[in-house]
Amino acid sequence: MGDFKHKHSLGQNFLKDKKVLLNIIDSVDVNEDDLIIEVGPGQGALTKYLKLFKANLRCFEVDERVKPYLEKFEDDKTKVIFNDFMKVDIEEEIKDIDFNKLYVIANLPYYITTPIIEKMINNPIDVEAMVLMVQNEVADRLSANVNSKDYAAITVFLNYYYNVEKLFFVPRAAFDPVPNVDSAVIKLSRKDNKYECNNEKVFFKLVRDAFAMKRKNLRNNLKSYDLNTIESVLLNYKLSLQDRAEKVPVQCFVDIANEISK
Ligand code: SAM
Repeated sequence: MGDFKHKHSLGQNFLKDKKVLLNIIDSVDVNEDDLIIEVGPGQGALTKYLKLFKANLRCFEVDERVKPYLEKFEDDKTKVIFNDFMKVDIEEEIKDIDFNKLYVIANLPYYITTPIIEKMINNPIDVEAMVLMVQNEVADRLSANVNSKDYAAITVFLNYYYNVEKLFFVPRAAFDPVPNVDSAVIKLSRKDNKYECNNEKVFFKLVRDAFAMKRKNLRNNLKSYDLNTIESVLLNYKLSLQDRAEKVPVQCFVDIANEISK
């Protein structure tokens, strides 16, 4: 990669393992009339393979030093936007593209993994699927099952919208420079049947509050709520206020939110 000075602060670990790149591409079906968003194309290792879909492609990169590496990818359907993805107005950037489904495929800068995922979830345009390289431990948290130590508020939020799968482990040696953590690729696929939640604001606040103190039980974390109502819903799931949030399935959180927002 020549004299390029990788910026650790920007999470610049470039993928160099062709097999991993091919596995990422194979994990998703994208058509020519779809749109792919790539966050952090870097020197274009993944971009090169994303081009094979012949879909519309928008790449957002914060570091202008990689411009010479990315220019060759640009054409009618592919544009590289040099800006901080967290500051970008996605709707504005894609408003002129006539596309069918939206995909996000990226080897993420790890220091903003959760903010990027949250930004895509909160975006009013539905994302069909996201295939993301993340830190291995984060992959475990995002794809955790209820009743496991990795099950967290972000797991509940993601599962509300998506089926979350950890696709495969990626050893640190697949990157240049070699980072000091291993990685994994996860796939988030939009759920066809969404939960019937009457008040999403209440639901999201409830989940955040329930996990506020990881070691505390529901009674302590949800002190400010109507505990009798919450307990009666928990009973339907054979749970109690003594339990911790990591035991509560998404549907139960939705049921509680529906009850307390009546
Ligand atoms: N896609 C390339 C690859 O797989 O080799 C590079 C991936 S590297 C892990 C993450 C990339 O995200 C870097 O190129 C970095 O400059 C870029 N990046 C970091 N913060 C960013 C931000 N806020 N907005 C857009 N890109 C960012």
